[in-house]
Amino acid sequence: MQTEYFNVLECWHWVMKIISIFSLIDQIWKPLRMDATSCVAPLEVGSSSVVDIQRKAVGPRLGHWTLIDSPRVLCEIHCLWFPVHQLLSQDDLCITAQGTDFISIEETLKDALSGLTTYYEVNHVANPAKTQVCAFHLRNKEAKRQLNVSWCGTPLSHSEHPVYLGVTLDRYLTFKTHFTKTKAKVSTRNNILRKLTNTRWGACPKTLRATALALCFSTAEYACPAWERSTHAKKLDPTLNESCRCITGCLKPTNTNNLYILAGIAPPVIRRAVASRTERRRQTTDERHPLHGHVPAPSRLKSRKSFLNSTAPLETTPSEARLAMWKEKLNNHPHSPTMHIPAAESLPPGDNNWAKWKCLNRLRSGMGRSREALSRWGPTMFDCGTEPQTMEHLLRCPLLGGPCTAKDLALYNTKAQQCTNHWLDII
Ligand SMILES: [Zn+2]
Repeated sequence: MQTEYFNVLECWHWVMKIISIFSLIDQIWKPLRMDATSCVAPLEVGSSSVVDIQRKAVGPRLGHWTLIDSPRVLCEIHCLWFPVHQLLSQDDLCITAQGTDFISIEETLKDALSGLTTYYEVNHVANPAKTQVCAFHLRNKEAKRQLNVSWCGTPLSHSEHPVYLGVTLDRYLTFKTHFTKTKAKVSTRNNILRKLTNTRWGACPKTLRATALALCFSTAEYACPAWERSTHAKKLDPTLNESCRCITGCLKPTNTNNLYILAGIAPPVIRRAVASRTERRRQTTDERHPLHGHVPAPSRLKSRKSFLNSTAPLETTPSEARLAMWKEKLNNHPHSPTMHIPAAESLPPGDNNWAKWKCLNRLRSGMGRSREALSRWGPTMFDCGTEPQTMEHLLRCPLLGGPCTAKDLALYNTKAQQCTNHWLDII
């Protein structure tokens, strides 16, 4: 049991550190490195009212006073006596402790908190009602065990899913709840994206792609170096596939490999892996990184994929790495060979008109509303009397001026434009 606690809490430990990187580096370390004295505006202890503190708390100097003026200093002093680690970001202070049983952890946390009481009371910022505790372990028989920790005489509430810097945590660190929440958030944003396409006017494909990357992909990839190795991470992919369908106008049965090529975006699993490897490179090379030089705990359980043990530092630029991994994925799982469009992080040739762009992509991917496809709801109908109207027939139908090939569609040349104009609003 001891090792289980050790491993899990070690994992928790780095998770919290990784998450805090985003704001810590920008808000705290950089200014302090530039000029340790001129940037700092210490809070006048004892003279500030609660309102004054709140005003400062939302100001740009927040990171400075929290760093210099106390919680961090107090915590560092306390670390000498108590086996606790503190993590500070913006106005949130997080204290972590690890041990072999719940009672010793409770005692450790109580001692650490009692040392902070004086500072918080003097500055009127102590709020035990807003402070939460959570235990991370794999001991299933004590899954419902709550930590009994009090601060300033108030018992702290136990939270099963605490949120730290926008990431929802859980006892196993599988991030399952985080994915459920993120999925809902991205779905809402997909609805916004769909609004841009559901008229005949539509937005131009470049705008749609930029909007999807800014609204949906950025939300789905937030803090992904911390959680991308979770088995539940792939649950986010269907919502991102939907974002790509909004960009390309493709239908639901379209092959996802084709979908991402047409949208000009690398698949989510590759984007997350590269983000993680970029973070690993920073951890290795940047001395300011909170995990720089950290020795990882020995791995015992196969299911625990620690960031330091299972992520290799990136050796090229992120875009090159994404492209190389994408091409390798396509080689291992060949997509439809008829598209003739190479994988690239930009849109393939096409039309700015939404209706034409949508029709072109359905012709390219071979998945559209052809009469053959609609025949499952009724008898097959012929448009030109030669053969059933399949997606392949659309390219060689006698009603067109001349046959069009997949290569023509990939290049969007005159033949492809004629073909697209013919089947516009039909498929
Ligand atoms: Zn025909």
